[in-house]
Amino acid sequence: MTAVPRRFREGFLWGAATSAHQVEGGNRLNDWWRFEQQPGKIHGGDVSGAACRHYERFDADFALAAADGHNVHRLSLEWSRLEPERGRHDGAAVAHYHDVFASLRRHGLTPLVTLHHFTNPLWIADRGGWENRETIDRFCEFVRFCAREYGGEVDWWCTVNEPEVYAFRGYSEGVWPPAKRDEGAALVVLGHLLEAHGRAYRILHDEDRADADGDGVKARVGFAKHRPQLVPARPWFPLDVLRARFENAVFNDAVEEAAVTGAIALSIPGVKPVRRDVPELKDSLDWFGLNYYTRWLVKMFAPDPHVAKKGAPLNDLGWEIWPRGFEEALLRVAAYGKPIVVTENGVADATDHVRPRVLVESLLHMGNAIEQGANVIGYCHWSLMDNFEWSDGYRGRFGLYRVDFADPERPRTRTRSAEIFARIAHANAIGGDVVAEVGLAL
Ligand code: BGC
Repeated sequence: MTAVPRRFREGFLWGAATSAHQVEGGNRLNDWWRFEQQPGKIHGGDVSGAACRHYERFDADFALAAADGHNVHRLSLEWSRLEPERGRHDGAAVAHYHDVFASLRRHGLTPLVTLHHFTNPLWIADRGGWENRETIDRFCEFVRFCAREYGGEVDWWCTVNEPEVYAFRGYSEGVWPPAKRDEGAALVVLGHLLEAHGRAYRILHDEDRADADGDGVKARVGFAKHRPQLVPARPWFPLDVLRARFENAVFNDAVEEAAVTGAIALSIPGVKPVRRDVPELKDSLDWFGLNYYTRWLVKMFAPDPHVAKKGAPLNDLGWEIWPRGFEEALLRVAAYGKPIVVTENGVADATDHVRPRVLVESLLHMGNAIEQGANVIGYCHWSLMDNFEWSDGYRGRFGLYRVDFADPERPRTRTRSAEIFARIAHANAIGGDVVAEVGLAL
């Protein structure tokens, strides 16, 4: 498949990703916490609760990452902690994230900071959330605050995580807050999030006036795009082909192209389209954040329009494990001509039996994409540790470190995947020993 050892360029970013609500614990003032309290919303009746207690244990967690050779860490700022009421910033929370950035620095980890990772303060949700245009302004105020407050510690900013996943899960499938089933609303929300990204891009460049890492650049701004392959389940059936095509257009291409051209053009058959030009959106990516997990086979007239390929290996959540699709996704987004940071890639595997092999296979595919011209500059594995996996509760175990959620101390245990990843990160290369050890034939 590929030449081994596969070396990466000097300064390649190796690390892991988390998001505040999934790991911190005690985030009571956002819409997810409220949603979790409703019976039947989360698998097994789980609630985020104390999560991984990362809010208290961040320093020890970063020590684990650093010892494993990571040099970057992707995390998110919890808007509801920093601004629990409109315009009132919580001093303790503001100081907390300064401590977090100081700890990252001590451990030699460059922060890559997401400003919106699925959660909203209750006061935003109660004013109509992202269906309300005014939320864009409120988010921009939050972004300005963060740029001024943390610009001296942060250069790498990720405005919005997976706007398309947020919009469709919450407003079309209705499985995340605010649990609506209205495709028109999903398009409105997606349009607002894209506009928010474009405006946040400009604000971060205007307001982050400090070069935190001394490389001559004060802010590097991108977003994180979830890019599943969406392919017809029955390629001979024109309606599956059609559905896969329009899903791919609205979920993948339109979102990415908006950040290049500035034109929002979102449409679904039978639904009022959302179209407008947003000047701030044009050329609003310094780097492209790619989240890659799987492909979905798309079926017309099926109770579940997205299915995994029959007989394919699946992760614990039933998603197809398809590392080759990672290479294809990287090559596809490379066409935008931006440096690419893999902002997420991982496998839900509670026993850690398949992850080591899938991890190495995925990284070899990433190497292939680089060889074919994709300018990949970093890779953040999802996730540093097992965490609260949204509506799947604690069932989806994506962690390089296993977390025992039955124990109030939430002890972490290093997996074999963490060890393999550490060897790759330390060497900045995938060696033949690692490839052989996970049982991959070349
Ligand atoms: C999200 C993460 C999530 C992961 C695994 C991504 O869609 O950004 O928050 O935990 O996928 O489901």
